[in-house]
Amino acid sequence: MRINERVIALNDKPVNQNGRYVLYWMQMFKRVDANHSLIWAIRKANELDLPLVVYEGLKYYYPWASDRIHTFVLEGVEEKRIAFEKLGIRYIFYLQKDANSPKNTVATLAKDAAMIVTDDFPCFIIPEHNRRIAERAEIAVHAVDSNGVIPMSKFDKEQYAAYTIRPKINKLLDQYLVPLANETVEHTSLDIEVDCPETIVTAENIAQLVSECDIDHTVPPSPIYHGGTANGRARLQKFVSYILCNYNTDRNKPDRDGSSRLSAYLHFGFLSPLEIALAVKEADAPQDSKDAYLEELIVRRELSYNMTWFNPNYESLDALPSWVHKTMREHADDERQVLYTLGQLEAAETHDELWNAAQREMVATGEMHNYIRMLWGKNVIGWSPSYEVAFETLVHLNNKYCLDGRNPNSYTGILWCFGKHDRPWFDRPVFGVMRYMASHSTGKKFDSQKYIAWSKSLNAENAGDAE
Ligand SMILES: Cc1cc2nc3c(=O)[nH]c(=O)nc-3n(C[C@H](O)[C@H](O)[C@H](O)COP(=O)(O)OP(=O)(O)OC[C@H]3O[C@@H](n4cnc5c(N)ncnc54)[C@H](O)[C@@H]3O)c2cc1C
Repeated sequence: MRINERVIALNDKPVNQNGRYVLYWMQMFKRVDANHSLIWAIRKANELDLPLVVYEGLKYYYPWASDRIHTFVLEGVEEKRIAFEKLGIRYIFYLQKDANSPKNTVATLAKDAAMIVTDDFPCFIIPEHNRRIAERAEIAVHAVDSNGVIPMSKFDKEQYAAYTIRPKINKLLDQYLVPLANETVEHTSLDIEVDCPETIVTAENIAQLVSECDIDHTVPPSPIYHGGTANGRARLQKFVSYILCNYNTDRNKPDRDGSSRLSAYLHFGFLSPLEIALAVKEADAPQDSKDAYLEELIVRRELSYNMTWFNPNYESLDALPSWVHKTMREHADDERQVLYTLGQLEAAETHDELWNAAQREMVATGEMHNYIRMLWGKNVIGWSPSYEVAFETLVHLNNKYCLDGRNPNSYTGILWCFGKHDRPWFDRPVFGVMRYMASHSTGKKFDSQKYIAWSKSLNAENAGDAE
């Protein structure tokens, strides 16, 4: 049941009148500022005259769990503990290392809670988490949408493309692109006793903690991107001060540091899109660059969230429009000029040096440049035995290596390569009328040799900015 434009009740169970606290289960909006879930949880705690407890867990068995993803999440924990302490709010972080570690922590915490507030994220494992906790807990559970600048509920159906959502967003922008005030708790919870295991995380023990987890240790932490709001803000500051002014021209040049590279901070909720959008709006930069950036951050990003929110098939080719299905049927049996296995692709062993460079960037750094990502996806379609295999390969590689993977943008970006949110182009083998991108012409639009040389210099220990 919808409570307001950002909040839904996930069940119709009552508030526990004997509850000792309100529980905010922080899953995706891992921040203290501009967080609608936290604001709602504080309001509910104050209304019920109770303290607030914030719980964040990291389990070992989510899909693609690795040293890279774990480290990035853990890098944001200590700063949150300090920030919540200042707010008088007990923040518990628990790292579930393996099958022998205590489990069901949220359900256990719920026994003493009056109600639960959690994050409404339309993708990956979160919808299932929310369905299960609403079913298992005997108390009211509210899920709050702090995903975008505009609440997802403002759109009543799946939007066909950017041109259909853009005018709707533009109409609402003045109302929502305004600072969001934090709220304060009336009762401190710092000394509250809770039935929950806790992991103390510091900058010094992260590597040790990660090594103790039963996760994929073959994907190392990013040598460039470090998690947490402070690191995200440092990058945001650099972006608005030095990079934004040329964003409109440089963002499509993978050999330059020309885009924000904030998507991993957005994915884990270390930064809110609102904070970024306001910083860009206020920046001293040409209007065309600001407009181009806000188009990506708000129109394109919120179109992706709209897709996973409304389309139950977002994890498969079934999410594509009928014109793509028609062209795929017509070209399914076309001869592929070259086929690569997942292993060859993962190891960047193709004939295409530009594609290999993009793959190497992703494997080494946890990120792939915005522009080259489109080419990367398109080529895998041409080199796979079927469209389904291409889709599975792209989802696997993107979500395994990219810090910003497992996000609505991941699925929408990959589906875009197959025609989602796009239009038919000229008919050609294998691609049919899906838009085609060739490495030789794409590579002429920037200094591809410099990018390739940089990518070759990368390895887990020795990586730096392209420029
Ligand atoms: C095959 C493929 C896979 C992709 N996988 C992901 C992914 O896993 N996670 C992810 O966040 N993005 C993904 N994208 C979208 C886009 O490539 C990234 O958002 C972008 O590379 C992030 O870099 P940036 O922060 O420097 O972007 P900037 O150019 O600085 O853009 C600012 C922000 O706008 C948003 N944005 C930019 N481009 C897009 C887009 N095309 N669609 C939706 N939002 C956008 C992002 O949140 C980004 O951080 C994918 C695109 C493709 C084609």
